[in-house]
Amino acid sequence: MIERTLFSSEHLVGFLEEKDPIKIQELLTSAYKVKVDNIGSKVYLRGLIELSNICTKNCYYCGIRHANSNVLRYELSEEQVLGAAMFAWKSNYGSLVLQAGERTGTNYIKKVTKLVKKIKELSNGELGITLSLGEQSKEVFQEWFDAGAHRYLLRIETSNPNLYSKIHPNNKDHSWERRLQALINLKEVGYQTGTGVMIGLPYQTSQDLANDLLFMKEFGIHMVGMGPYLKHSETPLGQLVIGNQQLAGGNQSLEISLKMVALLRLLMPKINIAATTAMQVIDPEGRDKAVLAGANIIMPNMTISEVRKNYQIYENKPGIKDDAAISKSKLEANLSKNGIEIGWSQWGDSKAFE
Ligand code: SAH
Ligand code: SF4
Repeated sequence: MIERTLFSSEHLVGFLEEKDPIKIQELLTSAYKVKVDNIGSKVYLRGLIELSNICTKNCYYCGIRHANSNVLRYELSEEQVLGAAMFAWKSNYGSLVLQAGERTGTNYIKKVTKLVKKIKELSNGELGITLSLGEQSKEVFQEWFDAGAHRYLLRIETSNPNLYSKIHPNNKDHSWERRLQALINLKEVGYQTGTGVMIGLPYQTSQDLANDLLFMKEFGIHMVGMGPYLKHSETPLGQLVIGNQQLAGGNQSLEISLKMVALLRLLMPKINIAATTAMQVIDPEGRDKAVLAGANIIMPNMTISEVRKNYQIYENKPGIKDDAAISKSKLEANLSKNGIEIGWSQWGDSKAFE
């Protein structure tokens, strides 16, 4: 069993660079045990609705960045979103996530407020709502919180401001400090606050990843979604041929992602950690492996099949032709094959928040 008190920055780097399969397995197994001891063995589901791929930002890694003119832009109608929410509720999902590119126009803000209220109404307040709609003002975070959203996901992407500046344009809309301030604001408003990083980025070192883990611990985050960086050929970063680019999307980046999940579980036994879809891109069982390394949240895609192909933040996104029902049955089959139990109709809130 791995001693939890041993997690200095040096130890974390040591684990991240560990090559011995037996030692790696020991790490993953220890993390799974810590999860079961602290928060139980169930996974909780958040049905994912990709509300819109319209985005005003230009993150260098992301396929739906504003400057990618090959993307057919869409925004789901109120009816489409409420239809998906109804599916989630009837499927006993417990919670859903509304995710989209980043936008700040008033009409859009009001539309989200209305959607949150209507989802609460249609489910008799039973569906938990997580938002992942990028950086907003504190007032907007408050408005959506008051409407009924209670969790928010905003990845810091990397805890290293210098690395952040290499993977984003350098202007006020892509500022590491502003993103950090948004996370602080979310916590102050009262959200269960989630963040995360991409793993295997060009220029990223093991020390950066160890610092990411310590950043999340120090910030006292309630939930985390992190996963491998995957190349998108229509992006500046996807076209770059330097450094550890061969990592992007390879088996090695899945292994490091699993180690990151396990180390974070050992550092923060009670938080919610997502087994992210990006892990499933590298390995069809990637999400299940993450659950067995300490993750306890899965976000099955519920976006209607007509628009799924247009929400490709990275390439080779799985299940692009599937609809919500197919995604659901594939997920259940996989989880039950691996003996993983689902917490149906439960919010599965972060125990770190209580
Ligand atoms: N626009 C919002 C939410 C949608 S993007 C936001 O940026 O917060 C959600 C996440 O997708 C981002 O935080 C980023 O970590 C991830 N992402 C984007 N491009 C990616 C890529 N090429 N590989 C892996 N993850 C990516
Ligand atoms: Fe927009 Fe989010 Fe993609 Fe950045 S990561 S370009 S904010 S959708």
